[in-house]
Amino acid sequence: MKIGVLALQGDFREHIAAVNQCGHEALPILRASELDEIDALILPGGESTTIIHLAKTFSLFEPIKAKIATGLPVYGSCAGMILLADRILGGAEGQETFGGLDITVRRNAFGRQVDSFEGEIDFAGAPISAVFIRAPWVEERGAQVKVLSEIDSHAVAVSQGRLLATSFHPELTANLAVHRYFFDEICQGR
Ligand code: GLN
Repeated sequence: MKIGVLALQGDFREHIAAVNQCGHEALPILRASELDEIDALILPGGESTTIIHLAKTFSLFEPIKAKIATGLPVYGSCAGMILLADRILGGAEGQETFGGLDITVRRNAFGRQVDSFEGEIDFAGAPISAVFIRAPWVEERGAQVKVLSEIDSHAVAVSQGRLLATSFHPELTANLAVHRYFFDEICQGR
C-alpha cells in the first residue's frame, strides 16, 4: 500500500521509517493533491495546534476532513489522536480538529509529574512498550468506539471504523505492532 504521512510538523520521519519497515511505501504529505495518491494516512505526534495551523496554511485542512468523511483509513498518534477527536478538553481556545472519531480527548492528560513516561501496556491483547509524551487520553467515547488499550480505566488506544488513534508513540519504539494492526486490521480488514 501507499501510506501518506502528514509531514507538516512532528515525528513524521519516524512514522515513515515504520511504514517502510512494514513493507509499505511512504509518501510525505505536504499538498492536497497528494491525498489522492494514497491508500491510508498517518497523522504524527507533535503539537496539535501547530499541525492544524499549518494544515490550514497549506490548504490541507478541508481536504483531509473530506478524506476522513469518505472513509480514508487514518491513524493518529498522540497529537494525531487529538487531531482525529471530535471534541477536546484542555485545548487552546477555539482549537479545531479534523475530527471523525467520536471521542472527547483530554490534552496533556497525565499531568506535569508524569508528563512523559514509558510503560508496558496491552494493545489489542498483546503487551507492547509504549512511550507517552505530554499525551492525551480518551475521556469519553461513543458506542461505536472500540478500546484497544487502557491505563487506569482511561482509553489510550481506540478505533472506530477506519480510524485508529493512540495516546502513545509506537513510532519511537522498535515495536511495529500498532502500525501492523493499522495496515492489516484497519486498512485491509472488514
Ligand atoms: N500535547 C501535545 C498536543 O497537544 C501532543 C504531544 C505529542 O504528540 N507528543 O498537541
